[in-house]
Amino acid sequence: MKTRIAIAGGGLGGLTLARILHRHGIDAVVYEREAGRSARSQGGSLDLHPESGQQALAEAGLAARFRSEARPEGEEHRILDPTGRTLVHHKPQPGAFSGRPEIDRTALRDLLLDSLPGDAVAWQHRLVAATPRRGGGFGLAFDGGHSADCDVLIGADGARSVVRSLLTDAALSHVATLVELSISDADRRHPDLAELVGPGNLWCVGVNQILAAQRLGDGSIRVGISLPAVDRHLDTYRSKRAVLDMFDGWDPSLTALIEAGDSPPTPRRIEAMPTGTRWTHQPGVTLIGDAAHLMPPVGEGANQAMLDAAELAAELANNPADPDLAICRYEEAMFTRIHPIAEMSARVQAMMLSPTAADDITRFFTSGPTEPAVDPVGV
Ligand SMILES: Cc1cc2nc3c(=O)[nH]c(=O)nc-3n(C[C@H](O)[C@H](O)[C@H](O)COP(=O)(O)OP(=O)(O)OC[C@H]3O[C@@H](n4cnc5c(N)ncnc54)[C@H](O)[C@@H]3O)c2cc1C
Repeated sequence: MKTRIAIAGGGLGGLTLARILHRHGIDAVVYEREAGRSARSQGGSLDLHPESGQQALAEAGLAARFRSEARPEGEEHRILDPTGRTLVHHKPQPGAFSGRPEIDRTALRDLLLDSLPGDAVAWQHRLVAATPRRGGGFGLAFDGGHSADCDVLIGADGARSVVRSLLTDAALSHVATLVELSISDADRRHPDLAELVGPGNLWCVGVNQILAAQRLGDGSIRVGISLPAVDRHLDTYRSKRAVLDMFDGWDPSLTALIEAGDSPPTPRRIEAMPTGTRWTHQPGVTLIGDAAHLMPPVGEGANQAMLDAAELAAELANNPADPDLAICRYEEAMFTRIHPIAEMSARVQAMMLSPTAADDITRFFTSGPTEPAVDPVGV
């Protein structure tokens, strides 16, 4: 009998998994809570690393489409201090496609969705409970009363995963606060800011706070302010005036990024799981991406989610008659790969919001034989 595979969550991890399984002739249903592909803005852009995100896309047969959508020039980045002095300016080789080109999240998600059969994603299916069935597999209950059964359940349902509780009770901790703004049509409406940010990323690093900005493919600029995880109500960050007051003394050419925001700032908590999280294997269920290893956002989460998907898909394809063996192998390799990355991400997050962040980040970007595997943009 065919194994029925359910993937909870149609983010980058879940869709990559469904696509690679589909290439191997294995069907899976993706249950996604959103109403459709354009129900919600997908956020900023990502740089995909050759050894993780790009490798997964190659296994998905989507490397060529990625190259046509990605923006290698988006790798350009500049680090400034609060007076506007340039500390680091990295420009990629013109036309080079060897590093970590940026791609907008919306473009990446569309690329994956377009590669799947039309009925692969069940939209508007928010999983609320998964109950082990006698004899194996799970009964799934969705918001609104739908239900379904599956033999294998893969939790790709992100930071606040419902599936996670079947495997671990690891708690999330609040590691930072991120305040976001968006500036549309920047070249025409704010040419000074467009020039300041350039085609990639800008990080203005102060004491315990970073003002970052990122160029997206649609010509907008996404602004992200990273602050320590102090016990302050998020509503206190919802006015531009209150946010500008935190940047008292900074050069006005930088704080203009806050003033130019199209609408009031949107604050959110940034959370992470404990770095050594692992669980004892349970039959018929596993996790990928943020559901498995939520980390501070310093450039690895989406890349690792996609690599999880590629590795799990390969194990399931190699062991069609024994999905539990496939899951065990995937989990052991994933724990070994993720733990040092999660530790590095936690260290970088702490460094970014420290009093000596400007010196530390500059040293980080200018020393060592290769460019570091982080993207402390926070947007
Ligand atoms: C500000 C910020 C910046 C970042 N920058 C980078 C970066 O530059 N590079 C990088 O590699 N990573 C970055 N990350 C991390 C990256 O966004 C995540 O690690 C990545 O999106 C994880 O993919 P995922 O598929 O596991 O989860 P998600 O992308 O969160 O997808 C989960 C999906 O599951 C759906 N879902 C949730 N709950 C349910 C449910 N109960 N039932 C059904 N569906 C459900 C959601 O709607 C969503 O579509 C950043 C994160 C943040 C917050």
